[in-house]
Amino acid sequence: MDFCNDYRMTLNGTLVAGAASFDVFNPATGARIASAPDCNRDQLDAAVAAARASLPGWRAIPEMARGAMLKQAAAALSQNVDPLMRLLTSEQGKPLQQAKAEVLGSAFWLNAIADMEIPVTLNEDTDQRRSETRHVPLGVVAGISPWNFPLTLAFWKIAPALKTGNTMVLKPSPHAPLTVLKAAELIHGLFPPGVLNVISGGDNLGPWMTSHPGFDKVSFTGSTATGKRVMQSAAADLKRVTLELGGNDAAIVLPDVDIDAVVADLFWAAFRNSGQICIATKRMYIHADIYDRVAAALAEFAKSVKVGDGAHQGTEMGPIQNRLQYDRVVDLIEDAKSRGYRFLTGGDVDGSRPGNFVPITIIDNPPEDARVVREEAFGPVLPLLKFDSIDEVVARANASEYGLAGSVWSSDLALAADVASRLETGTVWINETAYMTPHQAFAGHKHSGIGVENSLDGLLEYTVPQTITIKKPVAA
Ligand code: NAD
Repeated sequence: MDFCNDYRMTLNGTLVAGAASFDVFNPATGARIASAPDCNRDQLDAAVAAARASLPGWRAIPEMARGAMLKQAAAALSQNVDPLMRLLTSEQGKPLQQAKAEVLGSAFWLNAIADMEIPVTLNEDTDQRRSETRHVPLGVVAGISPWNFPLTLAFWKIAPALKTGNTMVLKPSPHAPLTVLKAAELIHGLFPPGVLNVISGGDNLGPWMTSHPGFDKVSFTGSTATGKRVMQSAAADLKRVTLELGGNDAAIVLPDVDIDAVVADLFWAAFRNSGQICIATKRMYIHADIYDRVAAALAEFAKSVKVGDGAHQGTEMGPIQNRLQYDRVVDLIEDAKSRGYRFLTGGDVDGSRPGNFVPITIIDNPPEDARVVREEAFGPVLPLLKFDSIDEVVARANASEYGLAGSVWSSDLALAADVASRLETGTVWINETAYMTPHQAFAGHKHSGIGVENSLDGLLEYTVPQTITIKKPVAA
Protein backbone atom coordinates (compact mmCIF):
# COMPACT_ATOMS: atom_id res chain seq x y z
CA MET A 1 0.00 0.00 0.00
CA ASP A 2 1.28 3.46 -0.90
CA PHE A 3 0.92 5.72 2.13
CA CYS A 4 2.20 8.83 0.36
CA ASN A 5 -0.14 9.10 -2.63
CA ASP A 6 -3.58 8.32 -3.92
CA TYR A 7 -5.79 9.26 -0.99
CA ARG A 8 -9.26 7.84 -1.41
CA MET A 9 -12.41 7.55 0.64
CA THR A 10 -13.82 4.26 1.92
CA LEU A 11 -17.38 4.07 0.70
CA ASN A 12 -19.46 0.90 0.83
CA GLY A 13 -16.33 -1.26 1.05
CA THR A 14 -14.58 0.27 -1.93
CA LEU A 15 -12.01 3.03 -2.29
CA VAL A 16 -13.27 6.00 -4.25
CA ALA A 17 -11.89 9.36 -5.37
CA GLY A 18 -13.70 12.53 -4.39
CA ALA A 19 -15.97 14.44 -6.71
CA ALA A 20 -13.27 17.11 -6.44
CA SER A 21 -10.16 17.49 -4.29
CA PHE A 22 -8.53 19.89 -1.86
CA ASP A 23 -4.93 20.50 -0.83
CA VAL A 24 -3.28 19.35 2.38
CA PHE A 25 -0.12 21.08 3.67
CA ASN A 26 2.85 20.17 5.82
CA PRO A 27 2.64 22.62 8.75
CA ALA A 28 6.41 22.53 9.34
CA THR A 29 7.31 23.68 5.82
CA GLY A 30 4.15 25.13 4.36
CA ALA A 31 4.57 22.81 1.37
CA ARG A 32 1.55 21.16 -0.23
CA ILE A 33 1.89 17.44 0.41
CA ALA A 34 -1.20 15.91 -1.13
CA SER A 35 -4.64 16.43 -2.45
CA ALA A 36 -7.48 14.81 -0.55
CA PRO A 37 -10.90 13.75 -1.82
CA ASP A 38 -13.65 16.34 -1.54
CA CYS A 39 -16.89 14.46 -0.96
CA ASN A 40 -19.99 15.92 -2.61
CA ARG A 41 -23.60 15.52 -1.49
CA ASP A 42 -24.26 12.52 -3.74
CA GLN A 43 -21.26 10.71 -2.28
CA LEU A 44 -22.41 11.54 1.24
CA ASP A 45 -25.88 10.18 0.40
CA ALA A 46 -24.24 7.02 -0.96
CA ALA A 47 -22.17 6.60 2.22
CA VAL A 48 -25.22 7.00 4.44
CA ALA A 49 -27.24 4.59 2.28
CA ALA A 50 -24.42 2.02 2.46
CA ALA A 51 -24.23 2.37 6.23
CA ARG A 52 -28.02 1.98 6.50
CA ALA A 53 -28.07 -1.09 4.23
CA SER A 54 -25.33 -2.83 6.21
CA LEU A 55 -26.93 -2.14 9.59
CA PRO A 56 -29.25 -5.18 9.94
CA GLY A 57 -26.46 -7.63 9.12
CA TRP A 58 -23.90 -5.90 11.33
CA ARG A 59 -26.06 -5.58 14.42
CA ALA A 60 -27.00 -9.27 14.09
CA ILE A 61 -23.34 -10.31 14.47
CA PRO A 62 -22.58 -11.23 18.12
CA GLU A 63 -20.80 -8.38 19.92
CA MET A 64 -17.67 -10.43 20.63
CA ALA A 65 -17.39 -11.30 16.91
CA ARG A 66 -17.65 -7.61 16.09
CA GLY A 67 -14.97 -7.06 18.74
CA ALA A 68 -12.75 -9.64 17.03
CA MET A 69 -12.88 -7.58 13.82
CA LEU A 70 -11.91 -4.46 15.77
CA LYS A 71 -8.92 -6.37 17.11
CA GLN A 72 -7.88 -7.23 13.56
CA ALA A 73 -8.08 -3.53 12.78
CA ALA A 74 -5.85 -2.84 15.81
CA ALA A 75 -3.32 -5.37 14.53
CA ALA A 76 -3.32 -3.75 11.07
CA LEU A 77 -2.52 -0.35 12.63
CA SER A 78 0.26 -1.79 14.79
CA GLN A 79 1.80 -3.60 11.81
CA ASN A 80 1.90 -0.34 9.85
CA VAL A 81 3.02 1.98 12.61
CA ASP A 82 6.03 3.29 10.70
CA PRO A 83 4.31 4.61 7.53
CA LEU A 84 1.30 5.80 9.52
CA MET A 85 3.39 7.79 12.00
CA ARG A 86 5.43 9.40 9.21
CA LEU A 87 2.26 10.41 7.40
CA LEU A 88 0.77 11.74 10.64
CA THR A 89 3.84 13.87 11.36
CA SER A 90 3.88 15.22 7.81
CA GLU A 91 0.30 16.48 7.97
CA GLN A 92 -0.10 17.21 11.71
CA GLY A 93 3.38 18.42 12.65
CA LYS A 94 3.92 16.50 15.91
CA PRO A 95 7.30 14.83 16.54
CA LEU A 96 7.63 11.30 15.17
CA GLN A 97 7.76 9.63 18.58
CA GLN A 98 4.49 11.29 19.55
CA ALA A 99 2.97 10.30 16.20
CA LYS A 100 4.06 6.74 16.90
CA ALA A 101 2.38 6.88 20.32
CA GLU A 102 -0.79 8.12 18.64
CA VAL A 103 -0.87 5.19 16.18
CA LEU A 104 -0.16 2.64 18.91
CA GLY A 105 -2.63 4.35 21.23
CA SER A 106 -5.35 4.02 18.60
CA ALA A 107 -4.62 0.28 18.36
CA PHE A 108 -4.65 -0.01 22.16
CA TRP A 109 -8.05 1.70 22.34
CA LEU A 110 -9.49 -0.58 19.62
CA ASN A 111 -8.32 -3.66 21.53
CA ALA A 112 -9.68 -2.45 24.86
CA ILE A 113 -13.08 -1.44 23.52
CA ALA A 114 -13.30 -4.70 21.56
CA ASP A 115 -13.10 -6.54 24.91
CA MET A 116 -15.76 -4.48 26.70
CA GLU A 117 -19.04 -6.24 27.41
CA ILE A 118 -22.36 -4.57 26.81
CA PRO A 119 -24.30 -5.24 30.01
CA VAL A 120 -27.79 -6.68 30.29
CA THR A 121 -29.74 -5.78 33.43
CA LEU A 122 -32.11 -8.34 34.88
CA ASN A 123 -34.84 -6.16 36.40
CA GLU A 124 -37.07 -8.94 37.65
CA ASP A 125 -37.31 -12.71 37.49
CA THR A 126 -40.31 -13.93 39.43
CA ASP A 127 -42.94 -16.62 38.95
CA GLN A 128 -45.05 -14.03 37.17
CA ARG A 129 -42.59 -12.21 34.99
CA ARG A 130 -39.10 -11.82 33.62
CA SER A 131 -37.89 -8.34 32.74
CA GLU A 132 -34.53 -7.38 31.34
CA THR A 133 -33.01 -4.27 29.83
CA ARG A 134 -30.39 -4.50 27.15
CA HIS A 135 -28.64 -1.87 25.09
CA VAL A 136 -29.30 -1.91 21.36
CA PRO A 137 -27.50 0.10 18.67
CA LEU A 138 -28.82 3.52 17.69
CA GLY A 139 -28.36 2.98 13.95
CA VAL A 140 -26.13 5.00 11.64
CA VAL A 141 -23.60 7.25 13.40
CA ALA A 142 -21.93 10.35 11.98
CA GLY A 143 -18.41 10.77 13.38
CA ILE A 144 -16.76 14.20 13.06
CA SER A 145 -13.23 14.61 14.40
CA PRO A 146 -10.59 17.38 14.75
CA TRP A 147 -7.00 17.82 13.58
CA ASN A 148 -4.99 17.77 16.83
CA PHE A 149 -5.11 13.99 17.34
CA PRO A 150 -6.63 12.99 14.01
CA LEU A 151 -6.16 9.24 14.32
CA THR A 152 -6.83 8.68 18.02
CA LEU A 153 -9.94 10.82 18.13
CA ALA A 154 -11.33 9.09 15.03
CA PHE A 155 -10.84 5.66 16.61
CA TRP A 156 -12.38 6.86 19.89
CA LYS A 157 -15.56 7.05 17.80
CA ILE A 158 -15.11 4.13 15.39
CA ALA A 159 -14.39 1.57 18.12
CA PRO A 160 -17.45 2.09 20.37
CA ALA A 161 -19.82 2.77 17.44
CA LEU A 162 -18.96 -0.50 15.69
CA LYS A 163 -18.56 -2.56 18.85
CA THR A 164 -22.14 -1.75 19.89
CA GLY A 165 -23.55 -2.73 16.47
CA ASN A 166 -23.92 0.65 14.79
CA THR A 167 -22.61 1.46 11.35
CA MET A 168 -20.75 4.67 10.69
CA VAL A 169 -19.75 7.46 8.36
CA LEU A 170 -16.70 9.27 9.72
CA LYS A 171 -15.25 12.57 8.56
CA PRO A 172 -11.77 13.72 9.70
CA SER A 173 -10.82 17.39 9.73
CA PRO A 174 -9.94 18.85 6.31
CA HIS A 175 -6.73 20.18 7.90
CA ALA A 176 -5.40 16.65 8.60
CA PRO A 177 -7.43 13.97 6.80
CA LEU A 178 -4.66 11.82 5.27
CA THR A 179 -3.73 9.41 8.08
CA VAL A 180 -7.36 8.61 8.80
CA LEU A 181 -8.04 7.99 5.10
CA LYS A 182 -5.07 5.61 4.87
CA ALA A 183 -5.96 3.85 8.13
CA ALA A 184 -9.47 3.28 6.74
CA GLU A 185 -7.98 1.94 3.50
CA LEU A 186 -5.84 -0.40 5.57
CA ILE A 187 -8.72 -1.88 7.53
CA HIS A 188 -11.70 -1.56 5.20
CA GLY A 189 -11.61 -5.18 4.05
CA LEU A 190 -11.96 -6.42 7.65
CA PHE A 191 -15.58 -5.29 7.94
CA PRO A 192 -18.62 -6.03 5.78
CA PRO A 193 -19.07 -3.33 3.09
CA GLY A 194 -20.86 -0.22 4.35
CA VAL A 195 -20.17 -0.79 8.05
CA LEU A 196 -17.36 1.79 8.20
CA ASN A 197 -17.32 4.59 5.64
CA VAL A 198 -14.68 7.32 5.82
CA ILE A 199 -15.16 10.46 3.76
CA SER A 200 -13.31 13.76 3.59
CA GLY A 201 -14.27 17.18 2.39
CA GLY A 202 -14.32 20.89 2.91
CA ASP A 203 -16.30 23.17 5.19
CA ASN A 204 -19.70 22.15 3.83
CA LEU A 205 -19.39 18.47 4.60
CA GLY A 206 -19.80 18.69 8.40
CA PRO A 207 -23.04 20.71 8.24
CA TRP A 208 -24.37 18.38 5.51
CA MET A 209 -23.76 15.47 7.85
CA THR A 210 -25.31 16.96 10.97
CA SER A 211 -28.45 17.92 9.03
CA HIS A 212 -28.66 14.65 7.06
CA PRO A 213 -31.85 12.75 7.99
CA GLY A 214 -30.10 9.41 7.47
CA PHE A 215 -28.07 9.67 10.69
CA ASP A 216 -29.33 8.61 14.11
CA LYS A 217 -26.45 10.07 16.12
CA VAL A 218 -23.63 12.56 15.78
CA SER A 219 -20.44 11.98 17.72
CA PHE A 220 -18.45 15.19 17.49
CA THR A 221 -15.08 16.33 18.80
CA GLY A 222 -14.06 19.92 18.14
CA SER A 223 -14.50 23.46 19.34
CA THR A 224 -17.33 24.67 21.57
CA ALA A 225 -18.51 27.12 18.92
CA THR A 226 -18.88 24.36 16.33
CA GLY A 227 -20.37 21.99 18.91
CA LYS A 228 -23.24 24.42 19.48
CA ARG A 229 -23.92 24.49 15.73
CA VAL A 230 -23.80 20.69 15.60
CA MET A 231 -26.36 20.37 18.39
CA GLN A 232 -28.65 22.92 16.79
CA SER A 233 -28.51 21.14 13.46
CA ALA A 234 -28.95 17.67 14.99
CA ALA A 235 -32.01 18.84 16.93
CA ALA A 236 -34.13 19.04 13.77
CA ASP A 237 -34.67 15.29 13.78
CA LEU A 238 -33.64 14.54 17.35
CA LYS A 239 -30.33 12.89 16.53
CA ARG A 240 -28.50 11.83 19.66
CA VAL A 241 -25.30 13.78 20.22
CA THR A 242 -22.04 13.25 22.02
CA LEU A 243 -20.03 16.48 22.05
CA GLU A 244 -16.43 16.62 23.23
CA LEU A 245 -15.55 20.30 23.06
CA GLY A 246 -13.03 22.89 24.09
CA GLY A 247 -11.35 23.44 27.44
CA ASN A 248 -9.48 26.08 29.41
CA ASP A 249 -7.87 23.81 31.98
CA ALA A 250 -6.41 25.34 35.11
CA ALA A 251 -3.38 23.85 36.86
CA ILE A 252 -3.24 24.81 40.54
CA VAL A 253 0.27 24.68 41.97
CA LEU A 254 0.25 24.66 45.78
CA PRO A 255 3.18 26.08 47.78
CA ASP A 256 4.53 22.73 49.00
CA VAL A 257 5.52 21.29 45.59
CA ASP A 258 9.06 20.17 44.90
CA ILE A 259 9.71 22.62 42.08
CA ASP A 260 12.66 20.79 40.54
CA ALA A 261 10.73 17.54 40.52
CA VAL A 262 7.62 18.92 38.81
CA VAL A 263 8.86 21.61 36.45
CA ALA A 264 9.15 19.34 33.39
CA ASP A 265 5.69 17.87 33.96
CA LEU A 266 4.19 21.33 34.47
CA PHE A 267 5.80 22.54 31.27
CA TRP A 268 4.64 19.63 29.13
CA ALA A 269 1.15 19.76 30.64
CA ALA A 270 0.81 23.06 28.79
CA PHE A 271 3.05 22.63 25.75
CA ARG A 272 2.79 19.02 24.56
CA ASN A 273 1.54 18.86 20.97
CA SER A 274 2.38 22.60 20.87
CA GLY A 275 -0.46 23.26 23.30
CA GLN A 276 -3.00 21.87 20.83
CA ILE A 277 -4.72 19.50 23.24
CA CYS A 278 -8.20 19.99 24.60
CA ILE A 279 -6.88 18.98 28.04
CA ALA A 280 -3.68 21.04 27.90
CA THR A 281 -3.07 23.31 30.88
CA LYS A 282 -4.16 26.69 29.55
CA ARG A 283 -4.01 28.71 32.79
CA MET A 284 -1.40 27.99 35.44
CA TYR A 285 -2.21 29.30 38.93
CA ILE A 286 0.89 29.31 41.14
CA HIS A 287 0.90 30.15 44.85
CA ALA A 288 2.48 33.55 45.58
CA ASP A 289 5.11 32.00 47.90
CA ILE A 290 6.68 30.06 45.04
CA TYR A 291 5.46 32.02 42.01
CA ASP A 292 8.80 33.64 41.11
CA ARG A 293 10.76 30.41 41.46
CA VAL A 294 8.28 28.32 39.40
CA ALA A 295 8.03 31.02 36.74
CA ALA A 296 11.83 31.20 36.43
CA ALA A 297 12.13 27.41 36.29
CA LEU A 298 9.52 27.17 33.52
CA ALA A 299 11.17 29.93 31.48
CA GLU A 300 14.53 28.21 31.91
CA PHE A 301 13.08 24.83 30.94
CA ALA A 302 11.53 26.36 27.80
CA LYS A 303 15.03 27.31 26.59
CA SER A 304 16.04 23.64 26.55
CA VAL A 305 13.14 22.50 24.33
CA LYS A 306 13.94 21.76 20.70
CA VAL A 307 11.23 23.24 18.46
CA GLY A 308 11.19 22.31 14.78
CA ASP A 309 9.99 19.97 12.08
CA GLY A 310 8.53 16.91 13.79
CA ALA A 311 10.14 14.69 11.17
CA HIS A 312 13.64 15.71 12.32
CA GLN A 313 15.51 13.68 14.89
CA GLY A 314 15.37 15.20 18.37
CA THR A 315 12.46 17.60 17.78
CA GLU A 316 10.37 17.89 20.93
CA MET A 317 7.77 20.36 19.76
CA GLY A 318 6.39 20.92 16.27
CA PRO A 319 4.54 23.76 14.57
CA ILE A 320 0.90 24.80 14.89
CA GLN A 321 -1.10 22.49 12.67
CA ASN A 322 -2.79 24.95 10.33
CA ARG A 323 -2.64 28.56 9.25
CA LEU A 324 -6.05 29.46 10.65
CA GLN A 325 -5.03 28.32 14.12
CA TYR A 326 -1.62 30.00 13.75
CA ASP A 327 -3.37 33.30 12.98
CA ARG A 328 -5.60 32.86 16.05
CA VAL A 329 -2.62 32.22 18.34
CA VAL A 330 -0.60 35.11 16.88
CA ASP A 331 -3.61 37.36 17.42
CA LEU A 332 -3.74 36.38 21.11
CA ILE A 333 -0.01 37.11 21.50
CA GLU A 334 -0.37 40.47 19.75
CA ASP A 335 -3.28 41.34 22.02
CA ALA A 336 -1.19 40.48 25.09
CA LYS A 337 1.66 42.64 23.78
CA SER A 338 -0.57 45.59 22.99
CA ARG A 339 -1.84 45.56 26.57
CA GLY A 340 1.70 45.66 27.92
CA TYR A 341 1.75 42.25 29.63
CA ARG A 342 5.21 40.97 30.50
CA PHE A 343 6.58 37.97 28.60
CA LEU A 344 8.86 35.58 30.50
CA THR A 345 9.79 33.95 27.22
CA GLY A 346 8.64 34.04 23.60
CA GLY A 347 6.20 36.51 22.13
CA ASP A 348 8.22 37.39 19.04
CA VAL A 349 6.75 35.60 16.06
CA ASP A 350 9.03 35.39 13.04
CA GLY A 351 6.51 35.66 10.21
CA SER A 352 9.19 35.13 7.55
CA ARG A 353 10.00 31.61 8.75
CA PRO A 354 8.38 28.86 6.64
CA GLY A 355 5.84 26.75 8.49
CA ASN A 356 3.43 27.66 11.27
CA PHE A 357 5.96 28.21 14.05
CA VAL A 358 5.15 30.25 17.13
CA PRO A 359 7.79 30.44 19.89
CA ILE A 360 7.05 29.00 23.32
CA THR A 361 5.36 31.94 25.01
CA ILE A 362 4.90 32.34 28.77
CA ILE A 363 3.13 35.44 30.07
CA ASP A 364 3.78 36.82 33.55
CA ASN A 365 0.67 37.25 35.70
CA PRO A 366 -1.69 39.00 33.27
CA PRO A 367 -5.04 40.18 34.68
CA GLU A 368 -7.74 37.56 35.12
CA ASP A 369 -9.88 39.12 32.39
CA ALA A 370 -7.06 39.10 29.79
CA ARG A 371 -8.05 37.38 26.55
CA VAL A 372 -5.09 35.04 26.93
CA VAL A 373 -6.58 33.86 30.26
CA ARG A 374 -10.27 33.73 29.29
CA GLU A 375 -9.90 32.19 25.81
CA GLU A 376 -8.66 28.75 24.80
CA ALA A 377 -5.33 29.49 23.10
CA PHE A 378 -4.83 26.01 21.63
CA GLY A 379 -1.21 26.86 20.91
CA PRO A 380 2.12 27.27 22.75
CA VAL A 381 0.99 30.22 24.88
CA LEU A 382 0.62 29.98 28.65
CA PRO A 383 -0.37 32.64 31.21
CA LEU A 384 1.03 32.18 34.71
CA LEU A 385 -1.22 33.59 37.43
CA LYS A 386 -0.43 34.31 41.07
CA PHE A 387 -2.79 33.31 43.91
CA ASP A 388 -2.82 33.59 47.71
CA SER A 389 -5.51 31.28 49.07
CA ILE A 390 -7.22 28.07 48.10
CA ASP A 391 -10.72 29.53 48.20
CA GLU A 392 -9.58 32.31 45.89
CA VAL A 393 -7.90 30.02 43.36
CA VAL A 394 -10.81 27.56 43.26
CA ALA A 395 -13.18 30.45 42.52
CA ARG A 396 -10.88 31.79 39.79
CA ALA A 397 -10.39 28.35 38.22
CA ASN A 398 -14.15 27.75 38.19
CA ALA A 399 -14.99 31.16 36.74
CA SER A 400 -14.95 29.81 33.20
CA GLU A 401 -17.58 28.68 30.73
CA TYR A 402 -15.39 25.62 30.16
CA GLY A 403 -15.24 22.57 32.42
CA LEU A 404 -13.15 19.96 30.67
CA ALA A 405 -10.31 19.09 33.08
CA GLY A 406 -7.75 20.53 35.47
CA SER A 407 -4.91 19.57 37.76
CA VAL A 408 -3.67 20.14 41.30
CA TRP A 409 0.00 19.93 42.24
CA SER A 410 1.02 19.33 45.87
CA SER A 411 2.91 16.96 48.16
CA ASP A 412 -0.17 16.87 50.42
CA LEU A 413 -2.36 14.38 48.55
CA ALA A 414 -5.35 14.75 50.87
CA LEU A 415 -5.34 18.52 50.47
CA ALA A 416 -4.90 18.17 46.71
CA ALA A 417 -7.82 15.72 46.53
CA ASP A 418 -9.99 18.18 48.46
CA VAL A 419 -9.12 20.99 46.05
CA ALA A 420 -9.74 18.64 43.10
CA SER A 421 -13.22 17.81 44.37
CA ARG A 422 -14.10 21.52 44.31
CA LEU A 423 -13.26 22.01 40.62
CA GLU A 424 -16.16 22.11 38.16
CA THR A 425 -14.56 19.90 35.52
CA GLY A 426 -15.03 16.39 34.15
CA THR A 427 -11.53 15.21 35.06
CA VAL A 428 -8.99 16.41 37.62
CA TRP A 429 -5.48 15.01 37.82
CA ILE A 430 -3.24 15.31 40.86
CA ASN A 431 0.50 15.72 40.22
CA GLU A 432 0.13 14.80 36.54
CA THR A 433 -2.07 15.58 33.56
CA ALA A 434 -3.52 13.83 30.53
CA TYR A 435 -3.63 10.32 31.97
CA MET A 436 -6.44 8.71 29.96
CA THR A 437 -7.56 5.11 29.57
CA PRO A 438 -10.34 3.42 27.58
CA HIS A 439 -11.95 2.50 30.93
CA GLN A 440 -11.95 5.98 32.47
CA ALA A 441 -14.94 8.25 31.76
CA PHE A 442 -14.02 11.44 29.90
CA ALA A 443 -16.76 14.03 29.95
CA GLY A 444 -16.84 17.79 29.68
CA HIS A 445 -18.81 19.84 32.19
CA LYS A 446 -20.45 23.16 31.25
CA HIS A 447 -19.58 24.26 27.70
CA SER A 448 -16.89 21.60 27.35
CA GLY A 449 -19.34 18.99 26.19
CA ILE A 450 -22.37 16.80 26.43
CA GLY A 451 -22.05 13.11 27.11
CA VAL A 452 -19.09 10.85 27.74
CA GLU A 453 -16.31 9.22 25.77
CA ASN A 454 -14.45 6.10 26.92
CA SER A 455 -15.56 3.81 29.81
CA LEU A 456 -18.75 1.77 29.85
CA ASP A 457 -20.74 5.01 30.01
CA GLY A 458 -19.07 6.16 26.80
CA LEU A 459 -19.75 2.83 25.11
CA LEU A 460 -23.42 2.99 26.04
CA GLU A 461 -23.73 6.45 24.44
CA TYR A 462 -23.88 4.54 21.16
CA THR A 463 -26.88 2.52 22.34
CA VAL A 464 -30.41 3.00 23.50
CA PRO A 465 -31.96 0.90 26.30
CA GLN A 466 -34.58 -1.65 25.35
CA THR A 467 -36.58 -3.33 28.09
CA ILE A 468 -38.32 -6.62 27.32
CA THR A 469 -40.77 -8.07 29.81
CA ILE A 470 -42.20 -11.56 29.55
CA LYS A 471 -45.35 -12.44 31.41
CA LYS A 472 -45.00 -16.07 32.42
CA PRO A 473 -47.88 -18.50 32.05
CA VAL A 474 -49.89 -19.14 35.21
CA ALA A 475 -48.97 -22.56 36.62
CA ALA A 476 -51.82 -25.10 36.22
P1 NAD B 1 -13.53 22.57 14.82
O1 NAD B 1 -14.75 22.69 15.67
O2 NAD B 1 -13.14 23.71 13.96
O3 NAD B 1 -13.67 21.32 13.83
C1 NAD B 1 -13.91 20.00 14.30
C2 NAD B 1 -14.53 19.20 13.18
O4 NAD B 1 -15.83 19.73 12.87
C3 NAD B 1 -13.76 19.22 11.86
O5 NAD B 1 -13.85 17.93 11.27
C4 NAD B 1 -14.53 20.25 11.04
O6 NAD B 1 -14.39 20.06 9.65
C5 NAD B 1 -15.94 20.00 11.48
N1 NAD B 1 -16.87 21.13 11.35
C6 NAD B 1 -16.57 22.44 11.26
N2 NAD B 1 -17.71 23.19 11.20
C7 NAD B 1 -18.73 22.31 11.28
C8 NAD B 1 -20.16 22.45 11.31
N3 NAD B 1 -20.75 23.65 11.25
N4 NAD B 1 -20.92 21.35 11.42
C9 NAD B 1 -20.34 20.13 11.53
N5 NAD B 1 -19.00 19.92 11.49
C10 NAD B 1 -18.21 21.01 11.37
O7 NAD B 1 -12.37 22.16 15.82
P2 NAD B 1 -10.82 21.97 15.47
O8 NAD B 1 -10.24 23.32 15.25
O9 NAD B 1 -10.65 20.90 14.44
O10 NAD B 1 -10.27 21.36 16.86
C11 NAD B 1 -9.87 22.18 17.92
C12 NAD B 1 -10.95 22.24 18.99
O11 NAD B 1 -11.34 20.92 19.35
C13 NAD B 1 -10.46 22.87 20.28
O12 NAD B 1 -11.46 23.72 20.80
C14 NAD B 1 -10.25 21.69 21.21
O13 NAD B 1 -10.32 21.99 22.58
C15 NAD B 1 -11.34 20.79 20.76
N6 NAD B 1 -11.04 19.39 21.11
C16 NAD B 1 -11.79 18.81 22.08
C17 NAD B 1 -11.49 17.51 22.48
C18 NAD B 1 -12.29 16.84 23.56
O14 NAD B 1 -12.25 15.61 23.63
N7 NAD B 1 -13.00 17.55 24.40
C19 NAD B 1 -10.45 16.83 21.86
C20 NAD B 1 -9.72 17.46 20.88
C21 NAD B 1 -10.03 18.75 20.50
